[in-house]
Amino acid sequence: MKFSKSFIPTTKQPPKDAVVNSHKYLVQGGFVSQTGSGIYNFLPMGKIVLDQISTIVKEELNKTGAQEVDLGMVTPASLWKESARYEKYGKELLRFKDRKSNDFVLGPTYEEAMVDLVRNRVTSYKNLPLNLYQVKTKFRDELRPRFGLLRGREFLMKDGYSFHSSEESLKEEFALMEQTYKNILDRLGLEYRVVEADSGSIGGNSSKEFMVLASNGEDDIVYCEACEYGANIEAAVSSVDNSTNSKIVVKKALYEDSSKIVVFFISQDDELQLTKATKAVDALELFDIDTPQDMTKQDFIDSSEYECIIDSSLENEFALSSYDVRAVQVGDTCKCCGNKLNITKGIEVGHIFELGDKYSSALNATFLDENGKSKNLIMGTYGLGISRLVAVMQEVLSDEKGCVWNNIIAPCQLDIIISDIKKPDQVKVATDIYNKCLEKGLSVILDDRKERFGFKIGDFELIGFPYAIIVGRNLSDGIIQLVDRKTLQKTDIQLDEIDEKLKELFWGS
Ligand SMILES: [Zn+2]
Repeated sequence: MKFSKSFIPTTKQPPKDAVVNSHKYLVQGGFVSQTGSGIYNFLPMGKIVLDQISTIVKEELNKTGAQEVDLGMVTPASLWKESARYEKYGKELLRFKDRKSNDFVLGPTYEEAMVDLVRNRVTSYKNLPLNLYQVKTKFRDELRPRFGLLRGREFLMKDGYSFHSSEESLKEEFALMEQTYKNILDRLGLEYRVVEADSGSIGGNSSKEFMVLASNGEDDIVYCEACEYGANIEAAVSSVDNSTNSKIVVKKALYEDSSKIVVFFISQDDELQLTKATKAVDALELFDIDTPQDMTKQDFIDSSEYECIIDSSLENEFALSSYDVRAVQVGDTCKCCGNKLNITKGIEVGHIFELGDKYSSALNATFLDENGKSKNLIMGTYGLGISRLVAVMQEVLSDEKGCVWNNIIAPCQLDIIISDIKKPDQVKVATDIYNKCLEKGLSVILDDRKERFGFKIGDFELIGFPYAIIVGRNLSDGIIQLVDRKTLQKTDIQLDEIDEKLKELFWGS
């Protein structure tokens, strides 16, 4: 590929609203461009990266026997009405009508559509288990899209759905998918943790999140220093000594058609964990509210105006049933092994669920078991954010100059820069190296633009190809330079050693 013929519109100006590196550099490096709020175009370099991640994801999934499908982009609302999610999902679900006034949704997820595909087609235990997935653009109408690809409204996601005749079969597939997601993240060269998670709006029994470790991640992950235990702070538990020292946190709990004041009792040194607290009172959301004055703790408990929720660390103090609503802290004791827990930051890239028969019973998707008895299909669902992974890569790898790609998903392995396009000897040597790389099947770009050298090296740093070869003024001494993008280290190479160097770096010994 020649740079002069490529569509890589780099820019010095970061987007005005960019606060995270991936947003800044993916736009500046010409990978993506914004076309509306939370909606991004993938340009050629971005598309290559996206496709390479998709390929790895599909390869690993196909090894397990999962099969790729591609469902209609638009889902009839009738399916979402069957599961009752049409009413429940909130404004994130984009609803619209066609010319005949029929209701449709643009799906953020495809449980209903996938159950509809399978029901009446898979009718016997003999056809189970079955795992179907798609890699497809989804839409979720976020209230405040931000952070570029990390929280867009449109995103490319792999979503998979498995169907089973028994819970045991589901558990096997769930474990297989966990291992498959680990294999995918290992191949991408990312550091991650698998954590227990809150199941949120998808529902179901058990779920796990895949969190890529990133210092500016949006989620707090609790993990054990000694054993495998890991959980999102929203779901994390620990062993805590019973406390006698309590404080109260007062919140307004919002429900579908009502609200009430809830008083949470927690230990003096603890913080209320909002997701746990919201679940404990089965509310849609909790809001801050001023603490009523002149009320003792006993007054709250005695009053019928307030609902009181006691954290389990205080269960010996109050004669009320208790809930786990405190946030786990660094240094808490691991419930699994007794060692210390720690907290780190991460970004969620995948989420897998043991769903059970929540959707199959709602949509009446049944099969006949060995005894000819009709039963609901048992389901699992498995999501992995592909466009999100593009951004996460740069949250982890980028530096103050721009993007940095590892050699696994780099859009191009090598950038050959002709320092001065007017010097025929530079053009010849660079073109020779370029052709050699092409012959070896290396993905390579030749920067043959009529631009200053400083501009070209700036683009190299911004785009983040793993290596550059600079053919410049030292050529008269038989020397060219190799630049490692990750370390920004420059190494002089004798022209007659270039073959050896390329071989060492790109096509092995
Ligand atoms: Zn442990």
